[in-house]
Amino acid sequence: TLSDRLSDTFKNLRGKGRLSEADIDATAREIRIALLEADVALPVVKQFVGAVKERARGEEVSKALNPAQQIVKIVNEELVAILGGETRRLRYAKNGPTVIMLAGLQGAGKTTLAAKLALWLKDQGKTPILVACDLQRPNAVNQLQVNGERVGVPVYAPEPGNGVGDPVAVARASIEEAKRRLHDVVIVDTAGRLGVDAELMQQAADIRDAVRPDEVLFVVDAMIGQDAVSTAQAFLDGVGYDGVVLTKLDGDARGGAALSIASITGKPVMFASNGEKLTDFDLFHPDRMASRILDMGDMMSLIEQAERTFDAEQAMKAADKLAGRGDGEFTLDDFLEQMQQVRKLGSLSKIMGMLPGMGQFREQLENFDEREIDRIQAIIQSMTPAERANPKIIDGSRRARIAKGSGRQVSDVNQLVDRFFEARKMMQQMARGGGMPGMPGMPG
Ligand code: GDP
Ligand code: MG
Repeated sequence: TLSDRLSDTFKNLRGKGRLSEADIDATAREIRIALLEADVALPVVKQFVGAVKERARGEEVSKALNPAQQIVKIVNEELVAILGGETRRLRYAKNGPTVIMLAGLQGAGKTTLAAKLALWLKDQGKTPILVACDLQRPNAVNQLQVNGERVGVPVYAPEPGNGVGDPVAVARASIEEAKRRLHDVVIVDTAGRLGVDAELMQQAADIRDAVRPDEVLFVVDAMIGQDAVSTAQAFLDGVGYDGVVLTKLDGDARGGAALSIASITGKPVMFASNGEKLTDFDLFHPDRMASRILDMGDMMSLIEQAERTFDAEQAMKAADKLAGRGDGEFTLDDFLEQMQQVRKLGSLSKIMGMLPGMGQFREQLENFDEREIDRIQAIIQSMTPAERANPKIIDGSRRARIAKGSGRQVSDVNQLVDRFFEARKMMQQMARGGGMPGMPGMPG
């Protein structure tokens, strides 16, 4: 899988610190192969990989992720965006019944989908009616009637034995019938052909003009792979549609058709049909499809985990500094930095449980006054660099100047300096192995 190949390619790259052109190229190459293996159309692959490289070049380097992970994350975000970002919902008519028309090749799964959609709408309190406009195939009307019966939704169809009916007339009449019987959604099933042809397109367009649908949904079999693009384009030109339904996602297709169609037509995939049972139906989820296309389930969870671990590591470093395990001489600058870390830790209190030895500070962190840090900061920032580095030189006249500069009292400065020396003493004790007696320098 792509996950495996990328992990091999980038075994030693963690912490490299930047996305080099070579990293971007190597990752892009693997992603290109993965997309082609998922049956994404070549022009779409090219355009997509180009856009990803462009963005990877401009991207700030993540400290949490290695270059491959970072590019994969970009790829995932771009995939989700092209696949529609948020799931697009059905638009219901303001007045009268909402008319949904299904179009697509024969065998795409329209008739099955009509019943699935009807059931789904019924579960949401709608009162749909199904309309049989496939008068081409001998058994098509019966198939819809059987499915309608299974989901408990009525089917509008021409009387049997009337010879070959006119699907456009049936479609038109069905709207009147729906209004009369107070159905709030009309689902119009149409005929398909094995291939795209002019007559089929004309018939679908005539039905469309007769019922003036609120939504035309193009139904397409996810298994047809590369052919999906030309079919989708032909239906877009011939009939037009608002959204796409992918069927047979229970098969082993990687779902490249979804990306190709969404990318080339700009129409969102709205529903996914994933089995022969009439309940095998769901709203389409772009994020799940993105993982499927890239075959990246594992990689995405690794990326999320890496980002979480990184946050925890940052918190650990802050905790280490608080505990005085940092290197070098402890100065007033360090003291201020600690205070700021404490503030950060406060907002990280959710993960405090993850930091060994920090549990004892929880209460202090929760009770701690943020404004105190602002006051400390104001005082320290009124000191010269020399004073901050070597607080011993801060005598009486310096204290008066600092107090004036920071808008505080001399007693505040005294208190801060005392507290600093106390904290430093405690740090030195701890550095000699005394453990963590308390939060050094904690205000309040
Ligand atoms: P239509 O010609 O577009 O109306 O397609 P049908 O609804 O008649 O479906 C064609 C075949 O595909 C039937 O055998 C269905 O049972 C099957 N089918 C439809 N949707 C799905 C699906 O999501 N998964 C699977 N495995 N089969 C499906
Ligand atoms: Mg059918």
